[in-house]
Amino acid sequence: MSSPSSDSGTIAHVHYFGGTALSGPATVTFDGGRIVRVTPDDSGDVPPGAVDGSGLTLLPGLIDAHVHLDGRKNLEDAAHWGITTMLGMGTPSPDLVAKLRGLPGLTDIRSSESPASAPGGMQTTAMGFDPATAVATSDDAEPFVAARVAEGADYLKIIVEDPDVMGAAALDVERATALVEAAHARDLLVYAHVTTVPAVRIAVDAGVDVLTHVPLDAVLDDGLVESIVADGQVSVPTLVMMRGAVRFARSRTHGAEVDFRNAELSVAAMDRANVPILVGTDSNAAPGAPLQVAHGESLHDELELLVAAGMAPLDALRGATVMPARHLGLGDRGSIEAGRRADLVLIDGDPLADISATKNIRGVWIAGERVR
Ligand SMILES: [Zn+2]
Repeated sequence: MSSPSSDSGTIAHVHYFGGTALSGPATVTFDGGRIVRVTPDDSGDVPPGAVDGSGLTLLPGLIDAHVHLDGRKNLEDAAHWGITTMLGMGTPSPDLVAKLRGLPGLTDIRSSESPASAPGGMQTTAMGFDPATAVATSDDAEPFVAARVAEGADYLKIIVEDPDVMGAAALDVERATALVEAAHARDLLVYAHVTTVPAVRIAVDAGVDVLTHVPLDAVLDDGLVESIVADGQVSVPTLVMMRGAVRFARSRTHGAEVDFRNAELSVAAMDRANVPILVGTDSNAAPGAPLQVAHGESLHDELELLVAAGMAPLDALRGATVMPARHLGLGDRGSIEAGRRADLVLIDGDPLADISATKNIRGVWIAGERVR
């Protein structure tokens, strides 16, 4: 796979997802890892060496906006399923993350490094993160962010929990705000882990950029959704994790009030209010995690769950392509047009009619290199 031309190619006579509709047929040409031309072609021979895309659909490589990384196999599994970019939301070892960055022919990653949490929070007590990184006071915020930047963090993740349930092991709005300000001063986006409505309120008030997970304890009320819209926040619901986390959440929070239906209804409410909803899975293979979710295949399950919750297939697909590119600083990818990275997934079927078509994979390219 090391020949000079391994990052170039042509896919002919293919319908492609242009961000708002399927277009084509067209010939998509890429070289040097980038798309160089998208040319209409409703007839003609397939050029020598080109892939015949007749009857097939070409998608931008899929972006998973919430995973955890623990080894090279995560990237291999993701690449196999057409996920060409993954955003890591916390891995205890910065050295491991560094080794997984920029590997040819594998899924491209970003990482928050260690998330910020209050002392005694789940991250440091159960998930393997260094207790010394806990943020005890607002004065700890800037050193915490500086340390993550030194490790190579691409953005900041903070763990926001319900103080009524977690007590001192939850960040209050003052510390959350200090973390957001320290991150924004360094041009880092801030993701907030939120699984309860009170946590969403704190994260919104603190001015985070991304709300990840979606509450199981109740549906987001109209006022909170309006605040999310007013602040321009985006959501990464991770329904595939929330569905599996219901039993775990019941054991440690509000008991019988916890219901997956609440998560679905909140996704529908945010979608109706035009909150950008991005596709993320919380994929992880960590032995200590409450629930393991497979890298790669689970993104296709997440697309189906978002559609089942009420999103149009078009918007779900945008949530794994155009929208994360726009909202998460990934402007070099996420759509099929000249100049973008040649991250491509060739499928059989029309995902705008049936979202499950994304699983019918016929080819995957990462930066122009065919990997499946
Ligand atoms: Zn996570």
